[in-house]
Amino acid sequence: MGRLESAVMRVLIVEDEPDLLRVLVADLEEEGYAVDAAADGVDGLDKAQAWDYDAIVLDVMLPKKNGWQVLTQLRESKSTPVLMLTARDATADRVRGLDTGADDYLVKPFELAELHARLRALIRRAAGQSRPVILIGEIAVDTVSKTVRRKDEIIVLTAMEYSLVELLALHRGELVTRTMIYDHLFNEDDESLSNLVDVHVSNIRKKIGKEFIITRRGQGYLIDG
Ligand code: CA
Repeated sequence: MGRLESAVMRVLIVEDEPDLLRVLVADLEEEGYAVDAAADGVDGLDKAQAWDYDAIVLDVMLPKKNGWQVLTQLRESKSTPVLMLTARDATADRVRGLDTGADDYLVKPFELAELHARLRALIRRAAGQSRPVILIGEIAVDTVSKTVRRKDEIIVLTAMEYSLVELLALHRGELVTRTMIYDHLFNEDDESLSNLVDVHVSNIRKKIGKEFIITRRGQGYLIDG
């Protein structure tokens, strides 16, 4: 990946159903992604090879080249995280996808919230692999041991506080919306916890420092890059 300066996560959607493609593009743009679209396998592969996307959403059944062919050819040169969209809930299909080098799959029809969550996880995993320790001033966020240190001193955080710090650290310099935080940290049934984001942020500030997390009122939070 190596796009450390990127202000926005950039994703490619390869999907031949025009209505679904439109919905996905609009939805992911709403989520704050920069979104490119391709409606067939040839265009999809061209774009996937030409750009370092943070993630690619790749439909299996596509004209010109199917999703498996696109993925196989892409993997010859790039390890971009790929989320396959499969119409069939068949084990053989999923195994084939993972064998071919897909990082995750989603069975149609799916909830947009699940797509968001899986994309975040993919991008986080990919970022974590290339940057296991994220340095923010004298604060080190270790995404492998799941700890936060100031110099040699461990700062004791709850699991939820750590997850929130990691999410913000992986997106440092970018606004992390409350929607992103909910999608990433909370289960859908955890409605009651939603309002506690402010409390977690407040507790993190007490432990790490007041300026560590910046509030954008009504929008979300960020750690300055
Ligand atoms: Ca299709």
